[in-house]
Amino acid sequence: MIDILPIRTQRSTTSRLAELDPKLEFGKVYSDHMFVVDFHNGEWQEAQIMPFGDMVVSPANSALHYGQAIFEGMKAYHQADGGVALFRPLDNWARLNASAERMCMPHMPEELFMQGLIELLRLDTAWVPTAAGSSLYIRPFMFATDGFIGVRPSESYRFMIFTSPVGLYYNKALRVRFEQKYVRSAEGGAGFAKNAGNYGAAMYPTKLAQQEGYNQLIWTDASEHQYVEESGTMNAIFVIDGRVVTPALSTSILDGVTRRSVLQLARDMGLVVEERKVSSREVMEALAAGKLEEAFGVGTAATIAPIATIGYEGHDYELPEVGPNAFSKRVGAALEAIRSGEGADVHNWMVRV
Ligand SMILES: *Cc1c(COP(=O)(O)O)cnc(C)c1O
Repeated sequence: MIDILPIRTQRSTTSRLAELDPKLEFGKVYSDHMFVVDFHNGEWQEAQIMPFGDMVVSPANSALHYGQAIFEGMKAYHQADGGVALFRPLDNWARLNASAERMCMPHMPEELFMQGLIELLRLDTAWVPTAAGSSLYIRPFMFATDGFIGVRPSESYRFMIFTSPVGLYYNKALRVRFEQKYVRSAEGGAGFAKNAGNYGAAMYPTKLAQQEGYNQLIWTDASEHQYVEESGTMNAIFVIDGRVVTPALSTSILDGVTRRSVLQLARDMGLVVEERKVSSREVMEALAAGKLEEAFGVGTAATIAPIATIGYEGHDYELPEVGPNAFSKRVGAALEAIRSGEGADVHNWMVRV
C-alpha cells in the first residue's frame, strides 16, 4: 500500500481499551478512532482520523429527511502469525459505490477508502480481538449533509469509518417463517443497495414475526410472494438433494460478500451450485420429501446462521439436525481458517493491514 494522501490524524489522549468488557457484546463499544472525509464543491476534501465521538449536523440534514444514507459491514481478523488482515475489502468498496450510484451519491475512490481504512486499523490495532472466532467489525458509511429540505440529491456528503470489536457469534439455529404479505424490496427498487431505508422498512414486518415467536423472516418476491429473496438481513442458501441452491441475484437482492465466498468454496469442494429462482413451495416439498438437508443465512455479522424451523402457511416444520459433516459446518470452518490465516488463501481474499 503506497500512502498517497495526507490523512490528518488527531490521536485520542487516553484509550478506552482498558475499560473494554471482555464479553464483547455486538454493537456497543467502538474503538478509539474514526475516519472522516467530507465531500463538497464536487470533490472529496482533506481526510481526517480523529477520536470517536459525536458530531454536529443541520436539523435540515437531507439524510435524515430523505434517506440518502448507505453503509457497509466488513471485518478484520487477528492472524495466526500476529498481524491483522481484512477479508475482501475491495468487494465492500465496490458495493459501496454500487449503492452510492443508486442513491445519487458520489463515487468513493479506491485509494481514499483503502488508505483511510488501513490507517484507521493501524492506529487501533490493539482493538482487534485475538480470541478464536472474534474479529473487529468495520462500519464504513456515507450520508448527505446538505441543510436543505428541498427534494433533490444533496450536494455535500460525509464518509466515515468506525470499528467495533466483536466476540464469537453464537449461532443458535433460527426459527424463521416465509413472509407473504410485506416485502423488503421489489425488482427495480433499491434492495440490492445497502441503503439505510431498506432496514427501517424491514423492522415492522420483522417485529410482527418476532411477536409470533420467530427470529427472522424469509422474504419472498414482491409480485407473487412465491420466490425466496433473503433471510432477514442475510442471503439464503439451501442444500437440496446434495446441491447448493440459492436465489439468483437481482435488483431486489443484496449481493453479499459472504454469499459469494460460500458459493466459491462450494464449487471448490466440487459441489453443484445453482443460482436460480427458489420457490417456497420447492423448499417445503423438499423438506417433506426428506431432501432439504440444510437451510441457512449467510452474512458478515454471523457468517452462517443455520435454520432449524420454517413457518409456512400457518404451520411450523422442523429441518433435520445438521451433523458435523454438513456443508454449512464445513464451509464455515473453511472460511474461518482463511480469515484467521490458518488455511491457504487460494483466492487472495485477505488484505494485510
Ligand atoms: C449486508 C447484507 C447482506 C450480507 O452481505 P455480506 O456482504 O455477506 O455481509 C445480505 N442481505 C442484506 C439485505 C444485507 O444488507
